Amino acid sequence: MSKKLFVGAAVLLAALIGRPRVALAACMSDDDCPNGGSCVLARCVAQDGSPCTTNQQCRSNTCSAGVCITPAPSGSPCSNGEECQSDICSAGVCIARTEMLLSSGPSANRVDLVIMGDGYRSGDQAKLTADAKTLMNTFFAQPMYAAYKNYYNVKLVHVVSNQDGADNGSLGQLRDTALGAFYDCFGIDRLLCVDDNAVLSLAAHHAPEFDKILVVVNDTKYGGSGGAQIATASLAPGAPSIPVHELGHSLFGLADEYVEAGHAHCDSTLDCPEPNASVFSQASQIKWNRWIDASTPVPTPDSSDFDGVVGAFPGARYFSDQFRPARNCIMRSLGANFCPVCQEAGVLTTYTFVDPIDQVTPPGAVNLIPTQSQDFVVQGPRPNPDTMNFVFSIDGTPVAVNQTGSFSLAGSTLGNGSHTLDVRVTDLTSFVRRDDGQLLESSFSWPVTVSTPACSFSPARPGSPVTLGALAALGVAFGLRRRRG
Ligand SMILES: [Zn+2]
Repeated sequence: MSKKLFVGAAVLLAALIGRPRVALAACMSDDDCPNGGSCVLARCVAQDGSPCTTNQQCRSNTCSAGVCITPAPSGSPCSNGEECQSDICSAGVCIARTEMLLSSGPSANRVDLVIMGDGYRSGDQAKLTADAKTLMNTFFAQPMYAAYKNYYNVKLVHVVSNQDGADNGSLGQLRDTALGAFYDCFGIDRLLCVDDNAVLSLAAHHAPEFDKILVVVNDTKYGGSGGAQIATASLAPGAPSIPVHELGHSLFGLADEYVEAGHAHCDSTLDCPEPNASVFSQASQIKWNRWIDASTPVPTPDSSDFDGVVGAFPGARYFSDQFRPARNCIMRSLGANFCPVCQEAGVLTTYTFVDPIDQVTPPGAVNLIPTQSQDFVVQGPRPNPDTMNFVFSIDGTPVAVNQTGSFSLAGSTLGNGSHTLDVRVTDLTSFVRRDDGQLLESSFSWPVTVSTPACSFSPARPGSPVTLGALAALGVAFGLRRRRG
């Protein structure tokens, strides 16, 4: 096809399908493009610094303030988001779309929390980072989260809104925000919801590893919500633990422990589905009764005599005739810590995301000769204080119990043949009193074969050549062959 015919066909094709919107000169090579432009996909595009009116005219596909530019990496100076690879220019500097606030280990074996901001404009992104860090500190100040911090990764996704606040928030009007945060969700003034699809779409691009998402809303009106995947929290003064409470719902499946009109009662025969609320008032029927001392009256009087005691206190999950485990808990009032029953649920849930073993060394079967030893090491997240316990067994018989997760096996202690070295890892934390699903345990088995190597050297038959290599295998030093002086 001649060049002229090709160009004609390209123009016709462009007219038929309506692309490109910008009339770019057709080309076969860079030589066809004026002013040092480049020929890309049969269209002339301009180099950085060339004048432009649309992105398509630029080789970089970025036309900023009438000039083609190449978006800059984070840390570069900027005046608008188009100049930045991440699309985000904050306070005159390109910033990364995401930043890790806590990296504890591989996403596949950690709880991956993702924080996003809504109602944070371009210039508010440094504030978002600061707010997210404050939130994280509040989160990990809870004793249970503090103990299991090594089980969590936290990633912040920078989201830029056109306006600050939230609909019906402190500013008292509709706000144009990226994630559409709004109070008065389902007619409840303090219930703060977001556009879930917008949140999940951003997560799919920037944090596909997420387990739960917390949206921090840049508004000081009190509010939050805790859905199955997404929790929200505002920046209400004096209520820094709203996110801890809301993630108590989203992450651990906990019930509210206060009384409030407008909700459904639990089924009086099946009980409440959450671990921290019950319709029953007999100790024998209460699902957390392993935490209730025999001396504690049940139902338990709601008096200061029973502060810090686990019992069955009237008033939970919105009804005064349903029961909660403790007088106070962050699922009842924001200033408190999680009660022991909620802590237990938190640790158990954490172990639904995290196996106590990240990896083992060596990774599989081992061959040993009787004079050799082999070190076996188990690596994984450790609680703080470290309550992880390792039991190593050979052929079913325990041979070592320790907290180090390592064991040295001497071949001489085993007879020749096939053996199995097992390790069973168990978190003995006092946060958990019942682990029906054996979530706090994991194990690994190494097949170990012990054998005495066959002799690799046969004495030479008379007349056979004996190589230097064969002599070396016998430990014969070449120097010995030298005649003495
Ligand atoms: Zn509780």
